[in-house]
Amino acid sequence: MSRIALLSDVHGNLVALEAVLAAIGRADAFWVMGDTVGYGPDPSDVLARLTEKRARIVAGNHDLAVGTGQGLEVFNAHAAEAARIHRGWLSAAERDGLAALPLTLEADGFTLCHGSLRDPVWEYVFTGRQAQATLQLATTQHCCNGHTHVPALYRMDGDRVAATPFLADRPVPLEGRLLVNPGSVGQPRDGDPRAAYAILDTDGGTITLARARYEVEETQRRIRARGLPGILADRLAVGL
Ligand code: ZN
Repeated sequence: MSRIALLSDVHGNLVALEAVLAAIGRADAFWVMGDTVGYGPDPSDVLARLTEKRARIVAGNHDLAVGTGQGLEVFNAHAAEAARIHRGWLSAAERDGLAALPLTLEADGFTLCHGSLRDPVWEYVFTGRQAQATLQLATTQHCCNGHTHVPALYRMDGDRVAATPFLADRPVPLEGRLLVNPGSVGQPRDGDPRAAYAILDTDGGTITLARARYEVEETQRRIRARGLPGILADRLAVGL
């Protein structure tokens, strides 16, 4: 019996994470596809909460930037500024923990990564062709990723890979080989400001996208009060 919560791109948004955890209730496992920190007001509390949940976590580009201080030059100005601020807030142990996160993980027939299996840290998967490259590299049947902040599901049947509708509260059967992106908990970019996540039901053989409302204004207030770039607060209201 396994009910597994798929979370990605929490980005230090504790208010959104708490709403998602409350909506999920009991789960047998939590898988996190990276970018736990960066952008948001509560990186340390988010790390602590996921550790408490014994989450299995892979590294995202923001995690590595905050953890190591390297690679900030490829970020846009606001992302780089937030990463530098987070580096200052986190303890040495927290930074070292981020720097030591694995790039990929295997669990229950899934390979987890942040971007893709071609480039776990940086590749954005937005097309069937990109999804196909990742599924062909995987030694597991299915894969999960994040990074785009847009929920997506690609199915491989034979050699063909196609995007499959992945809509909230509509279970999708675990047929063929799937690449699943649960969207972003802390900074959705699909035009829906609600936190996104997914639930994998290994008994029922389904995966379901879900959305949770949270107090966006409270996260915005914290972003501004803590001196992070204001644009990071503004975008949360529109989910872009
Ligand atoms: Zn991200």
